[in-house]
Amino acid sequence: MPMKVILVEHTPNPEVLIAKAAKLCYSPVGIEEMNEAMDSEKTIKFINMLMSMGHESPVEHVAFTFAVEGVSRTLTHQLVRHRIASYSQQSQRYVKLDQFQYIIPPEIEKDSKAKAIFIEAMENSQKAYNGISDMLKEKYLNEGLSKSAAEKKAIEDARYVFPNACETKIIVTMNVRSLLNFFSHRCCNRAQWEIRELAFEMLKQVKKVSPAIFKYAGPSCLNDKCPEGNMTCGMMNEVREKCSKL
Ligand SMILES: Cc1cc2nc3c(=O)[nH]c(=O)nc-3n(C[C@H](O)[C@H](O)[C@H](O)COP(=O)(O)OP(=O)(O)OC[C@H]3O[C@@H](n4cnc5c(N)ncnc54)[C@H](O)[C@@H]3O)c2cc1C
Repeated sequence: MPMKVILVEHTPNPEVLIAKAAKLCYSPVGIEEMNEAMDSEKTIKFINMLMSMGHESPVEHVAFTFAVEGVSRTLTHQLVRHRIASYSQQSQRYVKLDQFQYIIPPEIEKDSKAKAIFIEAMENSQKAYNGISDMLKEKYLNEGLSKSAAEKKAIEDARYVFPNACETKIIVTMNVRSLLNFFSHRCCNRAQWEIRELAFEMLKQVKKVSPAIFKYAGPSCLNDKCPEGNMTCGMMNEVREKCSKL
C-alpha cells in the first residue's frame, strides 16, 4: 500500500503573516502600521532575515495540516513523539478491521523468503484478531450487552494482536517552527526509512507553498556539520543534493 500525503490546509498568506510579526519585532511600529500591506520584496526580506538568523518564534504563527495514509503504526509511533503538534488518528478501538492493511518494508519486499514469513505473520494476526473478537463478542452478548457495545468491547482487546506493520491514517498539524525541527530530525539519513520518506514528502509540499520560509529546511547537515558524530552516515553531499532538488 503506497504512502499518500496530502497538504490539507495551511495558514493563509503565510509569508505575509510571518513578515508582519517580524516587522513588529524589528521596527518602531504600532499594530496598525504593522498590519499595513508590505510589498513582496520587503516581505521576503523579512523572511530571509528571520530564517538566516534562526529567530524562530515569528514562524510559530503559521501552521500546516497534512493528511497521511498508507503508513505503518511504526511510523506514527515515531511521529507522535513530536509533541509540538496536533494529531487525529484512525482508531482501532472503534473501527473493526475485517482485513487489516499492512506496510511491507522494502528490504523485506525484495526478499521472497522474508516476504513469505512476513505475510504469514500478518495473516496469523488477522486470524487471531477475528477469533478473539468473535469469542469476546459472544461472551459480552451473553452478558446482556447490545450488539454494538459487545463488538466495540471485543475489538478493543482483540486489536492487541495487531503488528507494528498495520496500516494507519493520521492527520497532523505543525507550526513552521515545529516542522523545521521535524525536518531536521527526520530528513536525516539516520532516521528510519519510512518516517524519512514522509518527512521528505512533507518538505517537498511545503516548499511549493513557500520556498522562502523553507529555504534552510532539511536535515541538520544541510546548513551545518553533521551532529551525529561517530554515527554519521557520511553522505552529507548526497543529502544536500537531494534537498536541493526538492
Ligand atoms: C534518529 C532518531 C533516533 C531516535 N531514537 C530514539 C530512541 O531510541 N528512543 C526514544 O525514546 N526516542 C528516540 N527518538 C525520538 C527523539 O528522542 C524525539 O523524541 C523526537 O525526535 C521528537 O523530537 P523533539 O522532542 O525535538 O520534538 P517535539 O516534542 O516536537 O519538541 C520540540 C522541541 O521543544 C522542546 N521541548 C519539547 N518538550 C520539552 C520538554 N519536556 N522539555 C524540554 N524541552 C522540550 C525541545 O527543544 C524540542 O526539541 C529518535 C529520534 C531520531 C530522529
